[in-house]
Amino acid sequence: MSTPSQSPLARKRRARRGYRLLHERYPYAHCELDFETPLQLLVATILSAQTTDVGVNKVTPTLFARYPTAADLAAAQPAEMEEILRPTGFYRAKTRSVIGLGQALVADHDGEVPGTLAELVRLPGVGRKTANVVLGNAFGVPGITVDTHFGRVARRLGWTEETDPVEVEREVGELFERRDWTMLSHVLIFHGRRTCHARRPACGACPVAAICPSYGDGETDPDKAARLLKFELAPTAGS
Ligand code: SF4
Repeated sequence: MSTPSQSPLARKRRARRGYRLLHERYPYAHCELDFETPLQLLVATILSAQTTDVGVNKVTPTLFARYPTAADLAAAQPAEMEEILRPTGFYRAKTRSVIGLGQALVADHDGEVPGTLAELVRLPGVGRKTANVVLGNAFGVPGITVDTHFGRVARRLGWTEETDPVEVEREVGELFERRDWTMLSHVLIFHGRRTCHARRPACGACPVAAICPSYGDGETDPDKAARLLKFELAPTAGS
């Protein structure tokens, strides 16, 4: 589905202008999960279901120190891992997922994380969103990560009307250069977390207000809108 009143070229131009403006607001946008290896990012992304990245970052140092390799995850005692993962919620299911992931990596990939979408989505507990996070941030393969923020902001901006994440990924992907996909994902997720909130978007303090078809869905008074901004995470050093 596309917005019928606009030519494909006009849609593309407007989308790219919106991305430029958002990128200027969040030039430091990045994956907010802490990781050093593809395995750590894969595990952290699985743990981020139903909780915040900040919450995940609090438990992963202990988890990764205790279980540094896929083989260590595969051989973990569930009760011990559950204690570490408890603060992230759904810790029993997450423990099962992480141990199952370790076992599959050991059985099918010599304990290494594969670097293709097809192989990643065959791993237990790994969907397209998780796979794209890992590809984009650990392997440098451009990927669009459609989480709840990305989908909502893309629809509000008129980039798509789709609600199915795979369709959102396809439609939005057609509007941008492949090389921009990963940063586009970070920028849209940052915007959704900080400004274009689900319930009360801060339209009066939004850098794309002038070109957003949904302007007015949220607070338009500049002072009140500024108070809605959630810059809960400081930019990283040097950004
Ligand atoms: S103008 Fe409002 S709805 Fe549009 S992107 Fe900005 S905050 Fe979101």
